[in-house]
Amino acid sequence: MSNSSPRKQYRITLLPGDGIGSEIMAVAVAVLKQVGEPLGIGFEFQEALMGGAAIDATGNPLPEATLETCRNSDAVLLAAIGGYKWDTLPRHQRPETGLLGLRAGLGLFANLRPAKILPQLVEASSLKREVVEGVDIMVVRELTGGIYFGQPKGIFTTETGEQRGVNTMVYSESEIDRIGRVAFETARKRGGKLCSVDKANVLDVSQLWRDRMTQMATEYPDIELSHLYVDNAAMQLIRAPKQFDTIVTGNLFGDILSDAAAMLTGSIGMLPSASLGASNPGLFEPVHGSAPDIAGQDKANPIAQVLSAAMMMRYGLDEPEAANRIEAAVMQVLDAGYRTGDIMSEGMKLVGCQEMGAALLQVLS
Ligand code: NAD
Repeated sequence: MSNSSPRKQYRITLLPGDGIGSEIMAVAVAVLKQVGEPLGIGFEFQEALMGGAAIDATGNPLPEATLETCRNSDAVLLAAIGGYKWDTLPRHQRPETGLLGLRAGLGLFANLRPAKILPQLVEASSLKREVVEGVDIMVVRELTGGIYFGQPKGIFTTETGEQRGVNTMVYSESEIDRIGRVAFETARKRGGKLCSVDKANVLDVSQLWRDRMTQMATEYPDIELSHLYVDNAAMQLIRAPKQFDTIVTGNLFGDILSDAAAMLTGSIGMLPSASLGASNPGLFEPVHGSAPDIAGQDKANPIAQVLSAAMMMRYGLDEPEAANRIEAAVMQVLDAGYRTGDIMSEGMKLVGCQEMGAALLQVLS
């Protein structure tokens, strides 16, 4: 198929953000172009401001124009936002507030975070080889509800003049059911096992969560549903992570457990994520932050960004062949010994962000 007449054309909003964002985004865009061409897939990329860069330009971490551009696209590819410079701003002006606004503005209620141990990087994990070898977990985290959004919230002054900080953990049936369905469907495409994580021994909101998951399981007889309390789940993730296939949990627990699962793999520079809504464009981004300590030094590992682009092709645009090719290219460059500093080990070839990108393009060509 010729490059001049792509079979499909996708509008992708790029949010390079801050820190290493533009370096790793450049690699992902080059990879997408390269993988798309022979498959007849064309891209119309439009870049928009987000995070600290947007604060500097407009005073707002998520300008309305950016949200509008995102809404009008088929998918949104984000790099990372934030940095020391903006860490002391009031909360509503922080880069992270822009991220919460983007998720809410696009109705992205499901966050999918794979934590898969690649055979080439088993040694990068801080856990023993026999514990982590073969780990392949998908954490499905609820993203727009729970304690991060529940009302009332804020810092209030009581009648006695004392300050009280308040957040509210709240889930309605419909919120639980829609994330539950994403999780059951995801488990169905994977190993058929779903572990729901809650704190039903203490929290009423968790009891409702558990009741709904149990109820929903009757509609998915092929999926083996189990439940764990979040404290036990944290222990089991470190003790015997291979017992998990797909995990579903609320916003706060998912925030913490997905980071713990991520670290089983040893490098945060390798991990992609997808955030999905009912029908809106999905958001695809690496798990890591903007790594201000290495920004502008050509040291960043672009693989999490590249694998986020692969998740975009698979879950956002339903182009599994493109996703397969990107993932295969990543395996090939790792097999060939290419390593950025964060995943470097003895006998491997140390490369920078650009050289890693060039190696990916070469195996794709
Ligand atoms: P971080 O993920 O940016 O960095 C943690 C460590 O991992 C650093 O040593 C960094 O150099 C390294 N690292 C991260 N990504 C890497 C990559 N691709 N290649 C090589 N090394 C990599 O987390 P942090 O230092 O806690 O936060 C830095 C900034 O990023 C903060 O402002 C924070 O708020 C923000 N942040 C943003 C996101 C996001 O955009 N979703 C997520 C987490 C943190």
